Amino acid sequence: MAEQRLSVNEQATLPELIEQISHTHLLDDELFHKLVQLDAAYCQLELGLYGLCADCEMEIEPERLAADPTEQRCAVCGEKHLREHRQELRLNH
Ligand SMILES: [Zn+2]
Repeated sequence: MAEQRLSVNEQATLPELIEQISHTHLLDDELFHKLVQLDAAYCQLELGLYGLCADCEMEIEPERLAADPTEQRCAVCGEKHLREHRQELRLNH
């Protein structure tokens, strides 16, 4: 009998899992965005860049990392990114 549901290999790495989810309706889920962020943070850990802002490369404030360990930007760049993202959303609709 054919397996209908999404079968996830228990040995799958995070990037593989993300690749699999990207083909499902879960793509729009907030959890998926969290996974992508987690994957990015994991890559940064491996490169020794964890805790550095993705935009200005300054150290991310400890309280921001405490609130969200997968945080990619410092407070200033985070604000800016949020504004630009909202701008993009407006432009697209
Ligand atoms: Zn920054």
